[in-house]
Amino acid sequence: MLHKVLIANRGEIALRITRACRALGIKTVGVYSTADHNLMHLRFVDEAVCIGPNASTESYLNIPALLTAAEVTGTTAIHPGYGFLSENAEFAEAVEHAGFIFIGPRPEHIRLMGNKVSAIQAMRKAGVPTVPGSSRAVLPNTALNEAKHIGFPLIVKAAAGGGGRGMRIVNNIDQLVESVQSAQRDAEMWFGDDSVYIEKFLQKPRHVEVQIIGDGEGHAIHLYDRDCSLQRRHQKVLEEAPAPDLPEDTRQNILAACVRACEQIQYRGAGTFEFLFEQGEYYFIEMNTRVQVEHPITEMITGIDIIEQQLRIAAGLGLNLQQSDIKVRGHAIECRINAEDPLTFSPSPGTVQHYHAAGGAGIRMDSHLYSGYVIPPYYDSLIGKLIAYGQTRAQAIARLCQALDETIIDGVKTTISLHRDIILTDAAFIEAAQDIHYLENQLLPSLKDDTI
Ligand code: ADP
Repeated sequence: MLHKVLIANRGEIALRITRACRALGIKTVGVYSTADHNLMHLRFVDEAVCIGPNASTESYLNIPALLTAAEVTGTTAIHPGYGFLSENAEFAEAVEHAGFIFIGPRPEHIRLMGNKVSAIQAMRKAGVPTVPGSSRAVLPNTALNEAKHIGFPLIVKAAAGGGGRGMRIVNNIDQLVESVQSAQRDAEMWFGDDSVYIEKFLQKPRHVEVQIIGDGEGHAIHLYDRDCSLQRRHQKVLEEAPAPDLPEDTRQNILAACVRACEQIQYRGAGTFEFLFEQGEYYFIEMNTRVQVEHPITEMITGIDIIEQQLRIAAGLGLNLQQSDIKVRGHAIECRINAEDPLTFSPSPGTVQHYHAAGGAGIRMDSHLYSGYVIPPYYDSLIGKLIAYGQTRAQAIARLCQALDETIIDGVKTTISLHRDIILTDAAFIEAAQDIHYLENQLLPSLKDDTI
């Protein structure tokens, strides 16, 4: 196994990775910015190194600082978590050049999938259906020709995009040039690359994704699928596994396509293929070459520890699983709990006066909170993921409602009430009738100020 892993992340995922390493007897190095000296996982790691000031550009995104921390601690391998540098091919390359193991795919695959235009081209080559679209970068003056083939409405997306940022929906031809130009400006600002492409805007799709693990030598398995349709501003709010209401033959086709694509490119490590599913058809939209925030729901229904698998593969131990070992049992749902006002979604950092985590059968809380913890204002507002497992979807919903009720986070505003009072009790959600626009267009506008 690996000797010592540096965890290049913070918050709940840093704690999750620390736990997985400790369970395997791997030594750990935690890193933190000055604002983050009080992070929970720093109590459990073997060594902790301050890598810079509050701003993530100077700490969690600071490649020289991370490599220096790895060097001075005698680190063997670096786990990037999600977000920050996890999908940065230059970081993966720098880690390997410095003689450490990067716990993730090869840099060439991060690069291939990090650009959505090249990812779409690769998937088409592998025979995976993609959303009808330009399949190459467009300029304001070439977009018109492409748009004529695609039709309206369409969506302009950044090739290097992520985090749901910088997308533009275009309803008619008059808005096209202006939308492409403003999307280019946004893309340059957010991602340092102004390439954008266009694709058909799907009206009522579901977001369905597939978890895969590859050994890097042409053997890959899937861990089934998840539905992440409940979104706000193209960001996931609640996820479930397996995806409800997916026709069985379609499910098998999607799963097989993902395994095939991974085996073809000899993908290494954990990854997620994301699709939009509408009217019986599925379309690839992007691949994430890292562990996802929502990985626990897959762990709950398959019993496989995904971080452990990442560590095993990075250690060169290969895949100890065959596809036939992977069985789905029951249903799991995850609520993302953010330190945000549940009405306005504005961040609510500050001191957690009192914290109590819910428990009971089928409940898992992945969180770095504790009473007295001060949530800094500099980073993502995710403070916990409450996950419920049930033998049926209905049981998972009921357990989750009860667990949300039991969860106490005093001192800051959180999105607990949004999940408990609005989503989980909604008739359409209970029927699993959600599409990607449902939360934003139908559930949220109907809220009155006194609802939550
Ligand atoms: P990001 O990398 O920024 O998360 P994605 O390409 O994964 O961007 O898309 C995020 C979300 O945006 C999807 O889950 C979906 O809700 C929405 N979206 C993306 N492409 C389309 C499309 N062609 N039609 C409708 N919605 C889309």
